[in-house]
Amino acid sequence: MSRKKIVDCVIIGSGPAGYSAAIYASRADLNTMLFVGFQPGGQLTSTINVDNYPGFPKGISGKSLMENCKKQAKRFNTIIIHKTITEVHFSSQKGGIHCIKIEDEENIVESKGIIIATGSSPKFLGIDKEKKLMGLGVSFCATCDGFFHKGKDVAVIGGGDTALEEASYLSKICKNVYLVVRKNYLRASKILQHRILKKKNVNIFFCSKITEIIGDNFLEGIRIFNEKTRTSQILFISGLFIAIGHSPNTELFKNKLDMDEKGYIIVKKGSTCTNKPGVFAAGDVQDPIYRQAITSAGTGCMAALDLERYLYCC
Ligand SMILES: Cc1cc2nc3c(=O)[nH]c(=O)nc-3n(C[C@H](O)[C@H](O)[C@H](O)COP(=O)(O)OP(=O)(O)OC[C@H]3O[C@@H](n4cnc5c(N)ncnc54)[C@H](O)[C@@H]3O)c2cc1C
Repeated sequence: MSRKKIVDCVIIGSGPAGYSAAIYASRADLNTMLFVGFQPGGQLTSTINVDNYPGFPKGISGKSLMENCKKQAKRFNTIIIHKTITEVHFSSQKGGIHCIKIEDEENIVESKGIIIATGSSPKFLGIDKEKKLMGLGVSFCATCDGFFHKGKDVAVIGGGDTALEEASYLSKICKNVYLVVRKNYLRASKILQHRILKKKNVNIFFCSKITEIIGDNFLEGIRIFNEKTRTSQILFISGLFIAIGHSPNTELFKNKLDMDEKGYIIVKKGSTCTNKPGVFAAGDVQDPIYRQAITSAGTGCMAALDLERYLYCC
């Protein structure tokens, strides 16, 4: 195994967190290498319209936004590599060197600092057209896409905290919200249950599962099946919000960094520092709560500044 030269900063991930970190780190004259991974541009590239990212009064497509981020990072000489990281070795010493293994390569990259921005992945139902109609009525984020369904009927799938929060948010914008729950009870916290049960425009379908997504070019409705009555019905909706959970992309860092019970990387409060010196985490990978492009970009900036200060002190 041969070694390349030691860089200042390796960024793993090319979503808003990764590119923001790259722009800040490269502009600070850190020798910066960014690994794009299996989803170049991150989750936003799977959405057609981003309406809530500041600076774009008419909105912008997710792909264009991320393409702009890439160009901006390139302007400051970030080295962008279209590969996935398959192994990491973090030093436990302050000022120690971290090692990164790249897919299909014998070489390892050595770096003084690492920024982890591997994001998260929404959990899919695993039914037909779910991916095809993403951004065309199928969504994983009410805060992001609820506005497009103002005054219309929508459905939320799930019975946990996230699903009830999504349903509650949508109930303020949409005409009717159909909450489709697999079990005969809600898993969400009592406070959220009380809040949702008071809403007049939220209808809950217990013991039900979605069996079909209807619509060819955009979502038109869903078919749901009630396990108790063994009957099915169609709900005509403009938006389907799948809220059965998110998984942080942290498999690579298991037993190497402190994580919470869901696998999100734990960072020191008010910073992006992990429990390993010189290793920082930004974006969805350390954020089970907000999971927005703007919060990811914000923490990406923080990670680059944290890394710069760390290198300065070493
Ligand atoms: C359909 C959809 C629509 C959305 N719409 C909006 C919206 O309108 N507004 C909004 O604010 N938010 C929206 N979000 C949420 C937003 O996309 C995320 O909060 C944001 O992208 C998270 O950014 P991130 O940089 O943390 O990670 P991600 O965007 O998740 O990117 C993670 C990156 O890490 C890379 N990666 C993972 N593992 C490795 C590895 N081993 N090696 C190298 N690279 C790796 C991936 O390839 C990817 O580039 C939406 C999400 C979805 C799914």
